Amino acid sequence: MRVCREEIISALNAPDFTEYFKKADAMRREAVGDIVHLRAIIEFSNHCFRNCAYCGLNCKNKSLKRYRMEPEEIISCGKEACSAGYKTLVLQSGEDKFYTKEIIGQIVQELTSCGVTVTLSCGERTDDEYAYWRDCGAKRYLLKHETADSNLYADLHPGYTLSERLSCLEAIKKLGYETGSGFMIGLPGECAESIADNIILLDKLDCDMAGIGPFIPHPETEMRNHKAGSVTITQKAVSLIRILRPHMNLPATTALGVRNKEAYTEAFSRGANVLMKKVTPAKYRSLYEIYPTEIKIADIRDERASLCEFIKSLGRIPE
Ligand code: SAH
Repeated sequence: MRVCREEIISALNAPDFTEYFKKADAMRREAVGDIVHLRAIIEFSNHCFRNCAYCGLNCKNKSLKRYRMEPEEIISCGKEACSAGYKTLVLQSGEDKFYTKEIIGQIVQELTSCGVTVTLSCGERTDDEYAYWRDCGAKRYLLKHETADSNLYADLHPGYTLSERLSCLEAIKKLGYETGSGFMIGLPGECAESIADNIILLDKLDCDMAGIGPFIPHPETEMRNHKAGSVTITQKAVSLIRILRPHMNLPATTALGVRNKEAYTEAFSRGANVLMKKVTPAKYRSLYEIYPTEIKIADIRDERASLCEFIKSLGRIPE
């Protein structure tokens, strides 16, 4: 279906969204079936040289204790997740040049050789690095565009531009990665038009997956007093993306779950088909504080088993 800006805007402004939610659920079932993909996420470093206005990891936050996992530690954590049953590992970090092209490449090689799919989410790097990691076996790359408004992008990311971010996404796509982008709900100046522009950008980039999460204020950032993003608008955006691009992988994002557990559960019947679970070792978990959240640590196998039960209770198939 062609993505039409006017239609997205009128859907978002509709007094009753029920039919869109239902349609998204039906289209999800028809296009990608009942499977919910479980992804294990390892947050391997909270060092970051960037200063994103919304993010708790930004380099101006001096109160955060910083950590870096050793490559061996990342590999063994990945193998543990793998043996617990996870088929995809997402390796995420702040923008941290400590991890060179070769270091990341070696981690990717080790993990892919165990038969697991590796998704990288380490921010903006060079085309050469993206190409090298692809050759090492990385299959997916996640880099959210955050906002399709170039002026807002420049305000939130001093010294950086949306066009640089989009060039990275284009390079990633060209290299044959399954490409993930996404944006936040609740950024300054949000309206139906800006959400439509974000959705259209995902389509233009020909994304294979998209993470849509509500903004959550972090007390150690300049956006500490800004209102959190709406969970209903987050669900609406996920539904519309499902309707417009039925084959995409769309997670019920962790941020949505932090804002509202029921809304998170509901997202699976409103277009979502992916669940991401943190498996970062306990001693680092609370330090990867993009936004404030309650930290629960459980045995990785037990946790996966209870997630599978949760998915089954929704009438869906965990994988
Ligand atoms: N450095 C990596 C990972 C960034 S953190 C990168 O640049 O891709 C992962 C995601 O968390 C971001 O893309 C952003 O969309 C989200 N995020 C950051 N701060 C947030 C906040 N305060 N509330 C909600 N989501 C946030």
